[in-house]
Amino acid sequence: MAHTEAARLLSVWEEALPRTDADRARILHRAARPQAGPGELPRVPVGEREADLYALRRALFGDRMQVLLECAPCGEAMEFDLDAGELAARPPRSREPLRVAADGWEIDFRLPAVADLEAAAAGAAAGAGAEGDPAGAARELLVASCVVTARRDGAEVPAERLPRMLPAAVAERIAAAAEEADPSAEISLDIACPECGERTTAELDIASYLWTELDAWARDVLLDVHLLATVYGWTEPDILALSPARRRYYLELCADV
Ligand SMILES: [Zn+2]
Repeated sequence: MAHTEAARLLSVWEEALPRTDADRARILHRAARPQAGPGELPRVPVGEREADLYALRRALFGDRMQVLLECAPCGEAMEFDLDAGELAARPPRSREPLRVAADGWEIDFRLPAVADLEAAAAGAAAGAGAEGDPAGAARELLVASCVVTARRDGAEVPAERLPRMLPAAVAERIAAAAEEADPSAEISLDIACPECGERTTAELDIASYLWTELDAWARDVLLDVHLLATVYGWTEPDILALSPARRRYYLELCADV
């Protein structure tokens, strides 16, 4: 990491620290794309935000991402590597609306954007959509919010009626088409256990992965500042202006005293 970045990153960490997971994802996204105009980031397709976050991760901590996963059947701890550079290079194929035609329905829809995802999660939490199934309700609301036009046997169906009317099979076709067009929106892991051979699936949430790393990094840096300030009497800006190699060297000298 370029040491000139350290002060800026500490500010990002400080802003995100007391916030919710959704806010942290928003703050990290702004750090990944500081040149974005007001209102631009919520309209970005979900997979594009994920690609931005992988690119930020790569810039800060490198390509190699270590992932830990517990085997669901036997509990074995599994560790493997992902390539942040590879994941950063898979933004959505296009922002143009997509079309699904099935079972008498013809639906034009756009890829879910960050704001759609947040609104669907909030709507499901508030009790809209399918009862007793928050994940299903969020999915229904998400599909409805991304529909541009919907026709059933040639007659237009208003968007607000879709959550109740749209058959599950058609909603699944829409979800599958969106996933194909925006492969980074959800990174699914499917890992075979070396102990029992069973497979475990999980989703990689890059926002929370990156937040965990940034949090650990920030606490390490503050500890370094504390130790060097105590020994040498330097200020925080002085210490943050040191390259990581020099900072480490001075810390080693402190330990020898
Ligand atoms: Zn296992």
